Amino acid sequence: MGFDAVYYEAGVLDYPLGEMLQHKYTSLPWIEIENHNRIPEMTSADNRDFPKLKNHLIIGIRKTHRYVANHKVSDWLVPYTSSGCKAMCLYCYLVCNYNKCAYLRLFVNREQMLDRLLKKDAAAETPQTFEIGSNSDLILENTITDNLVYTIERFGREGRGKLTFPTKFDMVTPLLKLEHRAKTIFRMSVNPEEIIKRVELGTSPLSARIRALNDMAEAGYPVGLLIAPVILLPNWKNLYSELIDRLADELSDKVMKNGFIEMILMTYSFVQNAINTDAFPNAVQLFDRKIMTGRGRGKYCYRNDIRDEAESFLREKLSKRLGTMRILYIS
Ligand code: SF4
Repeated sequence: MGFDAVYYEAGVLDYPLGEMLQHKYTSLPWIEIENHNRIPEMTSADNRDFPKLKNHLIIGIRKTHRYVANHKVSDWLVPYTSSGCKAMCLYCYLVCNYNKCAYLRLFVNREQMLDRLLKKDAAAETPQTFEIGSNSDLILENTITDNLVYTIERFGREGRGKLTFPTKFDMVTPLLKLEHRAKTIFRMSVNPEEIIKRVELGTSPLSARIRALNDMAEAGYPVGLLIAPVILLPNWKNLYSELIDRLADELSDKVMKNGFIEMILMTYSFVQNAINTDAFPNAVQLFDRKIMTGRGRGKYCYRNDIRDEAESFLREKLSKRLGTMRILYIS
């Protein structure tokens, strides 16, 4: 993956992963920083420099490990081995959290993070499910670090509950042969091809994502389909009908029989809109004041009547074409 510079906390070189990355990116400039959370030259950059900032790789040590209770696919959202991402989906919620600094940060202390997760798993009354991919895209990250290989195998041996993560990437080959013991739930995020091309900049094409999902199901992983975020562009009914038809035609029997569906309508924010307006002036406009409404703290979502219409349209289409897949929720 192409980066133009590495910003690193000095302590990372004491970890095997830090050393490995030093060799891997030896030809790049390495710039020492005090703290991955505060890199003054990046926080002071202009919004229009957002794509340039995404070319930097930041390497640090994760110091905060606060788990947040969750009630969807998982019980806990876990800060894990990376945050931020090299891709540039125009709606990426990480931009709400990190603003321009939503570039990829890798954390080298994976043993410590997984130790902690396993301890929490062992101490719980019932087996728990841990969402480890809510801060980044772990399939993309894995192409640099092999962290998923380490995590899935070790959790397979030592874990009691489940891990889960979503992705918009297809590079799953290194995971197919792992001893996962069905303890990792793989969720592929999909959108219509036109939205992938125009909005999910730098992610894998739809056909590759479908293939990866089929391959993961074939390899015995529990799987889910995440239709998210649903973006109500003017022609959304056609776009999502075609998407569901295509999924029905191309998903394997295993996915159709055992997979589940989550669906999330897009939320957007003032911060994202400001960055996109400056950094991608010709991109598709995601904020639509005719059908969106405020949702506190500079966020926008679709109006309730519009959401209801979208939900009933999509539920009907799903029951016709992907009726064997359980819909976990639409939110
Ligand atoms: S792939 Fe995920 S984490 Fe990366 S930019 Fe897109 S939404 Fe954000």
